[in-house]
Amino acid sequence: MLKRRLFPLPEHAYPADAWRMVESRFMPTTYERAETIFALSNGYLGIRGTHDEGRPALQAGSFVNGFHDTWKIVHAEDAYGLARTGQTIVNVPDATILKLYVDDEPLFLPTARLRHYSRVLDMRAGTLVRELTWATAAGKRVIVRSTRLVSLEHRHVAAIAYEVVLPDNSAPVAISSQLLNRQDSASRDEPEPGKKDPRVATKLPHRVLHAEIAELDGLRMRFGYRTASSGMTLGVAVEHLLETQATHHVSDVCTDDGAELVITADAEPGVPIRIVKYVTYQSSRSAPTAELVARCERTLERVAHDGFEDLVHAQRRALDRFWDRADVRVSVAEDGELVQQAVRWNIFQVGQATWRAEGAGVPAKGLTGQAYEGHYFWDTEIYVLPFLAYTQPRIARNLLRFRHSMLGLAREHARELNLEGAKFPWRTINGLEASAYYQAGTAQYHINADIAYAILRYVAVRGDDDFLVEVGAEMLVETARLWADLGFHGDDGRFHIHSVTGPDEYTTVVNDNTYTNLMARLNLNYAASVVRHLQEDRPDDYKALAADTRLRAEEVDAWEAAAANMEVPYDERRRIHPQDENFLEREVWDIDATPPEQFPLLLHFHPLVIYRHQVIKQADIVLAMFLLGNEFSPEDKRRNFDYYDALTTGDSSLSACMQAVVAAEIGYGDIALDYFRYALLMDLADVAGNVSDGVHIASAAGVWQALVFGFGGVRDHEGHLSIDPRLPEPWESLEFSVRFRGRQVRVRLAHDGDEVRLDHGDPLEITFRGERLTLERHARPEPAVVSPKSPVA
Ligand code: BGC
Repeated sequence: MLKRRLFPLPEHAYPADAWRMVESRFMPTTYERAETIFALSNGYLGIRGTHDEGRPALQAGSFVNGFHDTWKIVHAEDAYGLARTGQTIVNVPDATILKLYVDDEPLFLPTARLRHYSRVLDMRAGTLVRELTWATAAGKRVIVRSTRLVSLEHRHVAAIAYEVVLPDNSAPVAISSQLLNRQDSASRDEPEPGKKDPRVATKLPHRVLHAEIAELDGLRMRFGYRTASSGMTLGVAVEHLLETQATHHVSDVCTDDGAELVITADAEPGVPIRIVKYVTYQSSRSAPTAELVARCERTLERVAHDGFEDLVHAQRRALDRFWDRADVRVSVAEDGELVQQAVRWNIFQVGQATWRAEGAGVPAKGLTGQAYEGHYFWDTEIYVLPFLAYTQPRIARNLLRFRHSMLGLAREHARELNLEGAKFPWRTINGLEASAYYQAGTAQYHINADIAYAILRYVAVRGDDDFLVEVGAEMLVETARLWADLGFHGDDGRFHIHSVTGPDEYTTVVNDNTYTNLMARLNLNYAASVVRHLQEDRPDDYKALAADTRLRAEEVDAWEAAAANMEVPYDERRRIHPQDENFLEREVWDIDATPPEQFPLLLHFHPLVIYRHQVIKQADIVLAMFLLGNEFSPEDKRRNFDYYDALTTGDSSLSACMQAVVAAEIGYGDIALDYFRYALLMDLADVAGNVSDGVHIASAAGVWQALVFGFGGVRDHEGHLSIDPRLPEPWESLEFSVRFRGRQVRVRLAHDGDEVRLDHGDPLEITFRGERLTLERHARPEPAVVSPKSPVA
């Protein structure tokens, strides 16, 4: 139902350019959005796209994945087992600040006379370059050029090269290079009670960062902090390289909240002043700050020795590798370059959020903002992981291993909920459940099955059986156990799961949520089949697993019995699946009569008002129809889609992309394109209205899914790759690649013929447009398939 409310979509502000986002003038009204659009990250370290001067800024933010402080959740009305520990990602000290003064006049973009201005995020180079010419009040021209990057090659490193030159004049110039603890300085005001958007981060009332080391030594800054409550440690070090022929001197200040170096120079016409700022961060749950600072310094020595250009080249090489597998090319006659640019920007964001996220998860906003507190949700497993499994399986594996590191706490959490097995937290950084609102949090038991599903997908796509032995099987056993205990065999002989919340958060704590039951069934069956496979084919590994998990043979039988009898609600009259047992009995919300300004509903209506209606925040059954596409008939898919589409507000950014995938599959080409465009521009056109808080990473990854699974029609049910494309009528072609079991398959779809090519690996049997065929690699790459004109969706 997005159409009436949201089309035509707002335009996005950046000119068409297939590989770059270009801001060609400083826009005082949209700089807040630009902080997100121009953010840089490598999955470990993220820096919002603020300006070098540090002002104006909505939220200047630098984030280290997983580095958080904790706080006590105070429930006004307490109950047993509610989440106790809030977790919020910390805004780590900001090393980007370089303030410029010419003739004592500060460069301040909103008031400066700018003769030329451009800021370019180059998605192939992985750099943010700003170039401007400033005419000072005294009429002097000042050319300022800066290049910022967060290194993909060196996980802990960011760097900025900053150059100032006055082409025609001399003038006293001062550059203040700072490192600043913003977390503990007053920033954004807290909104009035009741006006707070629950999606933005908590502003912690206490001092978060306590300095244990605060030193300035020549041009090097070294800081070590410990967080007030979580006790995590952080090392930050900054090295400056100063190059200029101009006479200059340096003064400095150092406090616990940061340091400042002021370079004062007598600028001569045409003589540049160049500063390269190398920055490193290290974080730990326990290592002493001195050790972290020492590590930072070692990294600094290395990168400063190799130089800035080396970082730039390595960045390019990493992105060449990334794009070789992840790029999707879309050829559209109208606005083709804009579409291509937006496609790449979304994919680039997912790359930035995950590339070096080793040993951590993927926050809902990546590392582009503090919203959602930097928490990891099911977004990782259901939205991001498929992209990674098909393009960067190494990262997919790391993320699943990270989930496994939470298993101990997930077991404890299950005990707290009086359940066997493990219950993964709905939202978390450190493995503890951080959702205070259990109805739309802890009750989303489906997170367990989402993780099992992601394991299945990863193993199917990568063919990585060893992963199961290493960590996968253990997670499957514990998640299956939880379902077996949570549900029960009813008098009707069916296995029911009660008091759960499905993906749609506008209906909570219900019985037999169809998505949950279907995914739990998959979880139970998959766990049973993996255990049986190990028992037969890898008996030693089976023994180790059984010992580690105290697995009893009868448990596996019980999982199979629960799965076989799983209740899957079905309404015979409408011939659709109710979202849950009672969903269809509720009153239908009149979406047409709801004024646009009352969306998202969650900010305008009491939860109870929403809960008693048939109204949906995000794809629920529709998502199940994609994830478990082989369990629904084509007719059911259409009927379900028709019914639920009319009730879906799309108030969650996780919805549109999945609606696009399913609409494409069932042949609703126009609807699929509408949803696709909506997801595509979610952030670039600020469709959801909160892009300034950070990138919607799940939606960005969902854009890739809409392209490859939706229009590309790629599926891998039962470990077999099939491609059943639905190229949209207005598109000329769509090109993408998928990595499948060590093979690189490249696909080009066009209305006058398709090509599928294997350009790496052994022959592979696939199904293309319903026909089985074997792809083979040719000495000279040639298309393996050239099909006649594609049917049009
Ligand atoms: C959605 C959840 C999602 C979370 C973080 C919420 O608005 O309803 O499904 O996990 O945002 O992206």
